[in-house]
Amino acid sequence: MLTVERLRDLYPAATELAHQNPFELLIATILSAQTTDRSVNLVTPELFRRYPTAADLAAADPAVVETLIKPTGFFRLKARRIISAARKLVDLFGGNVPGTLDDLVKVPGIGRKTANVILGAGFGVPGFAVDTHVIRLTNRLKLVATKDPVKIERQVCAMVPKEEWTGLSLRLILHGRRVCVARRPRCEECVLNDFCPSSTVRPKARRKAQ
Ligand code: SF4
Repeated sequence: MLTVERLRDLYPAATELAHQNPFELLIATILSAQTTDRSVNLVTPELFRRYPTAADLAAADPAVVETLIKPTGFFRLKARRIISAARKLVDLFGGNVPGTLDDLVKVPGIGRKTANVILGAGFGVPGFAVDTHVIRLTNRLKLVATKDPVKIERQVCAMVPKEEWTGLSLRLILHGRRVCVARRPRCEECVLNDFCPSSTVRPKARRKAQ
């Protein structure tokens, strides 16, 4: 699929959240809500130096955590979220990050989308995360004609090889943040503009394959 190939060339690293293990990825992913991966990467080295395990973070003083993660925005809410996620990891999973979707969604702050990101990037288990960017891009590219995340997940997974699921969804999210933004998509600079049915650019010969 051309979309897979072009986005892989454009974003060789599917996730730009710096992490050394699934615990760090889980916490970084919660922190990445409403902010850029870059601002998360600025705060996580010190956060994980002080709290390297779920047990450490579960016992953290929220005020200290708030100060450490302040640049990511919504820092009070996020401090509560990551501490309660760490407590749940300790209470239910012995301080480890579980490697299944059913278990991951038991952790506060981890929905189906985030769980798929963690499974794919943290455990190498293929998963197709669907968020608002993925909904928008898959519809604009006419890969699907639905806004239902579960249907989108099923339909796209049926189109691409399993080993591409995680990378494609993470790259669609990156592309949605940077180029195919909700209002005024930047089609003129988009690497998909020669075949995207929603492109505002009119190439001489539009390709059919997606
Ligand atoms: S060509 Fe435009 S509408 Fe299509 S994916 Fe790119 S930015 Fe989005």
